[in-house]
Amino acid sequence: MPDPRPGLSGLSLGELTAWLGARGEPAYRARQLQQALWTGTATGAADLTTLPQALAEAVDDAFRWSTVVDETLVDSDGGQTEKALHRLADGATIESVLMHYPASAGRRARHTLCISSQAGCAVGCPFCATGELGFTRDLETAEILDQVRSANRRLRGDERLTNIVFMGMGEPLLNLDRVLEAVATLNDPAGLGLGARHITVSTSGVVPGIRRLTALGPQFTLAISIHAGRDALRDVLVPLNRRWPVAEVVAAARDHARATGRRVSYEVTMIGGVNDTDADADALAELLRGDLAHVNLIPMNPVAHTPWQASPMPVIERFAARIKAAGIPVTIRRNRGVEIGAACGQLAAERAGAPPAPAVARRRLRLETASAAALRGQRSEEPVPAGVDS
Ligand code: SAH
Ligand code: SF4
Repeated sequence: MPDPRPGLSGLSLGELTAWLGARGEPAYRARQLQQALWTGTATGAADLTTLPQALAEAVDDAFRWSTVVDETLVDSDGGQTEKALHRLADGATIESVLMHYPASAGRRARHTLCISSQAGCAVGCPFCATGELGFTRDLETAEILDQVRSANRRLRGDERLTNIVFMGMGEPLLNLDRVLEAVATLNDPAGLGLGARHITVSTSGVVPGIRRLTALGPQFTLAISIHAGRDALRDVLVPLNRRWPVAEVVAAARDHARATGRRVSYEVTMIGGVNDTDADADALAELLRGDLAHVNLIPMNPVAHTPWQASPMPVIERFAARIKAAGIPVTIRRNRGVEIGAACGQLAAERAGAPPAPAVARRRLRLETASAAALRGQRSEEPVPAGVDS
């Protein structure tokens, strides 16, 4: 039986204050507990010498101090990238990746954490290990935040998390209520105290979710995983494009940028011979021309069970030049932690074990056929993935 106690970090200050108030405890205890959650080394309320013992016991009886267990930690890039596989109470596993960027040329050192919003993902992008695993469940607010607390504890000396990106497992805009609650705590000085500008949420293009965010006002930087400007190809690479076509996604992102005054990032995972042609660069440039946008090009991390590889660097540079020529800012990003499979879901996928060889061969063939048809401009006849239409 999974532990039924909710995670303490998932309670807002108001909820915690109300819970304490019902036990005749003063409101300041809520801040005290939050501070201990986010800064201390305690592993339970019982470790806090500032709490009366009876209250500490009541807290530990009612709540879990952490909802994630760090099952595996793997380093790469000479210790600059650290991947964590976290086990949840029901046995599901999720991943987070901590990336250290040393100070350089007047820029302070950065410590960026990439976190998961769901166990698995229903969208099913074929180049993504999480997509291949399929959807398990939404994460609770505490399960999102406890990935951050885990990384926080692993920092050394005066290191602080400077950026949080929702680019791990899952589609954050299909678990938006929990993601918004988590972001509120990340923002809160009593939580992590990280400014909205330093938090990025990446979506594969859930249009109603983007519209909802626009109505709420700026909460964080929005990143769109666009990958292709042409519907036929995007239907294959990001299957929810069959539900919300790329022009609708870009229109929603454009309205978001205008309403919030905040630039939207567009991510393109560069896949050799698939989405890296001149025609793809031009289609993307045409869609984004004149928008408050920034394009990031990321070489595809090799994942098992696809017929694809990263685009060669000269091809990525040529693609970037065409985007830039259209007046759109563009950056080529280095992919971190390739050898530990730092793209979302790769570690969990390895644990899940390889599917039988004939299934892998069928999948490769299907992807080759589908992408070749898409490059000829043929739209996919595959259905919208189940579970994406919230
Ligand atoms: N579901 C959301 C957020 C998580 S995925 C989204 O898709 O935006 C975060 C990013 O990792 C996305 O931009 C996704 O396209 C990228 N990604 C997934 N698999 C990858 C791979 N094998 N190589 C490089 N980037 C990958
Ligand atoms: Fe889901 Fe994002 Fe992976 Fe696509 S890239 S399957 S949306 S996690």
